Amino acid sequence: MDYRLPTSVVPSRYEIRLVPDLDAATFSGEETVTVTVTEPVTDVWLNAAELTIHAVAARDAAGTVVQGSAALEEAQERARLSFPSPLTPGEWRLTIGFRGILNDKLHGFYRSTYKDGAGAAHTIAATQFEATDARRAFPCWDEPAFKAVYAVTLVVPERLAAVSNTAIASEEPAGDGKKAVRFADTIKMSTYLVAFVVGELEATPPVMVGATPLRVWAVPGKLGLTQFALDCGAFSLEFFEKYYGVPYPGDKVDLLAIPDFAAGAMENLGAITFRETALLVDQATASHTELERVADVVAHELAHMWFGDLVTMAWWNGIWLNEAFATFLEMVAVDAWKKEWQRWVTFGVSRAAAMGVDGLLSSRPIEFPVREPKECEAMFDLLTYEKGASVLRMLEQYLGTEVFREGVRRYLRDHQYGNAETTDLWKALGAASGQPIPEVMDGWIFRAGYPLVTVEADGTGVKLSQRRFLYLGADAGDGAESEPWRIPIALRASVKGGWVDKRLLLDGPETRVALPAAPDWAIANAGGHGFYRVGYAPAMLKKLARSVAKVPPIERFNVVSDAFAVTQAGHLAAVDYLDLTGRFREETDRNVWTVLTGSFAFVNRVIAEGTRPGFATFVRHRVGLAAARLGWEAEPGDSELVRQLRGDIIRVLGTLGNDEETQAQARAFYARYVEDSAAVDPNILPAVIAILAFVGGEAEYADFLQRFRTARTPQEEQRFLFALGAFREPALVTQTLTRTLSGEVRSQDAPFLLRSMLSGVYSRGPAWDFVKEHWQEMAKQYPGSAYRRMWEGVTALISPEWERDVNEFFTSRGIVLGGKTLDQYLEQLKVAVRFQGREAGALAAYLARTPR
Ligand SMILES: [Zn+2]
Repeated sequence: MDYRLPTSVVPSRYEIRLVPDLDAATFSGEETVTVTVTEPVTDVWLNAAELTIHAVAARDAAGTVVQGSAALEEAQERARLSFPSPLTPGEWRLTIGFRGILNDKLHGFYRSTYKDGAGAAHTIAATQFEATDARRAFPCWDEPAFKAVYAVTLVVPERLAAVSNTAIASEEPAGDGKKAVRFADTIKMSTYLVAFVVGELEATPPVMVGATPLRVWAVPGKLGLTQFALDCGAFSLEFFEKYYGVPYPGDKVDLLAIPDFAAGAMENLGAITFRETALLVDQATASHTELERVADVVAHELAHMWFGDLVTMAWWNGIWLNEAFATFLEMVAVDAWKKEWQRWVTFGVSRAAAMGVDGLLSSRPIEFPVREPKECEAMFDLLTYEKGASVLRMLEQYLGTEVFREGVRRYLRDHQYGNAETTDLWKALGAASGQPIPEVMDGWIFRAGYPLVTVEADGTGVKLSQRRFLYLGADAGDGAESEPWRIPIALRASVKGGWVDKRLLLDGPETRVALPAAPDWAIANAGGHGFYRVGYAPAMLKKLARSVAKVPPIERFNVVSDAFAVTQAGHLAAVDYLDLTGRFREETDRNVWTVLTGSFAFVNRVIAEGTRPGFATFVRHRVGLAAARLGWEAEPGDSELVRQLRGDIIRVLGTLGNDEETQAQARAFYARYVEDSAAVDPNILPAVIAILAFVGGEAEYADFLQRFRTARTPQEEQRFLFALGAFREPALVTQTLTRTLSGEVRSQDAPFLLRSMLSGVYSRGPAWDFVKEHWQEMAKQYPGSAYRRMWEGVTALISPEWERDVNEFFTSRGIVLGGKTLDQYLEQLKVAVRFQGREAGALAAYLARTPR
């Protein structure tokens, strides 16, 4: 099948008039598309899906009109417009009348519903077009390289707001209590960036950022939750204008919170749509993590206004660069906005998550050929966003931030209003830096995986060697025969009590680095920007662990993260890893604790029930000092990160550590919160709720359910919703599972709730049985992208019996998740089950002893 449209007819301008009927869940539309015909054609091919086309006409420059007809090819999501005589080369105006549906699948032109304070239901119509769903709203050339100008008119009831990509040019009565809202012409851009939103929405007054008005939109009653996004949006918009050296390409920016939204947010030029949790937040009652999420997403989408919207990938194989770059710049902007958040240290968590997938045999290159547009849907994953951003960060640090930015500016100037390929960015960066960029980058972009760099003392120096890191390395000859990567290495060695720093490009299998004297230890990823793991020879790891408190947080983070990864891969015994964590009892950095407690959670999923009390004792020993130091009450001088760490530690102690005193204290704090919601630090409240779910019964469940239903902020709603999935009592687990299909939990959230229940030690069994029974309903009800992620939960079904059952299930049902997603989940499960088989005995013996 040929998926690409012919280029004999090319659109340059769409005049679109749409009349949505929110109650009937339908819309009618008419469009006039200005096209250039380059060779005589009697058939014009364009994309359309779930549309009926009832009128077709073509008019040439002289005004001659030819009536045509349309035939739809549903499988290919195309329409063929046929004319009795050929359209001759030149400019034509195609007029098409059509009708469509406002679907409930959160793609194309769709319906979102919400209840107001009085319980009355309201409907919004919104769009989500990326990658290939603009064709569900209007017939179009739905490929990113067919850039055109859009002149949109929405005909809607008087009382509703209508928003599109540009400012309103005029508003006129349209009869029947309706108004016709005409929007200004857009810049030349791709179809997937067009947006319409219609409903009872309210906007903040505009904040002027230079010449650009910036507003936040929400359903009525939520404007009190917009200030943080406005502040972050205003900062980011100005920041990016300076960074890119190009003015904002639109005429206004609207940030819109949509109650039902499948992704996190969507970078429609000038009309950026968000799920509510990613935009609306109450600064006074949100945790650091919740605020960071909003800042990240707002900055990310605004970064796209240039990188993605002004310059766009020529085809979907380039989507990785689009997303990787926005993720990278989101970090740069948020880091500039809130230095104290140490965003690049926290990014270590994301980098490690990408390495978790990229260390699999079933990983994929960041960029690969995409033929069918659907193939790119599986590209919206950790490898695209997090690995992509990581390798860009590595390149930026290697070239220098100024040189890198100059290359980016050059790329934007050369390709604005047009399309580009990945190689165009390398060319621009090469021109700015005078370095051979493709040679360095190709191994990171066009090959799956990443290297494990091994460090060994070697007389008065160190020996560095590289091979591919694989969790199942033994299955693949341990990656030894893989071609070497070109690795920008930042080496730091402790020599005679002082530090020696060296930079080099490791482009062969191994090299020796000379030092002034024999090193005590050496860190092979100083600064932590490299996308590789480091394996230390046992003797060196011991020495390094003793001095680890002296190195910066991101390097401590990597020491733990790398050690745990090589443990999962079978190169380090699990008990040796657990011994190593004993060196971190006085750790003060939140991210280092994130990787430590993440590894504890993994171990908890692997061990047998009988080992669990010993493991809880172990966890209490590891986090006890930090818990005692941090206490429960915020100190006036505490940074946001310290406050968040306090919450994280309390949560671990009260759940994994099963600490009774902490659980009692959590009850007391919750009572305080019920009395006065401002009396408890928002950074520990999520921990308190999680602990109460862990120890609670029906009374707590009923309370949380009520609070979920009446939540005042999106964050509060999420906390209580996910807490409903964290109870241990079987009857309560069942209740929550049932709610994922009852319509009570939004389809944008239900798959993620199920994922978390599949991962919970006490809920995973029933959750697995439940999804096996209801997966078809889920596939129908949930948005595709979220449904795909739900299945990630099966990676926590760690036992040989479950593993067999999971494999049998997917094989016999023929479930396809796109790309290599399913293979990756199954391999992650295999890694965990092997770990269990290899380590369970030793872990049981180790955890039966008093922790040291
Ligand atoms: Zn993005």
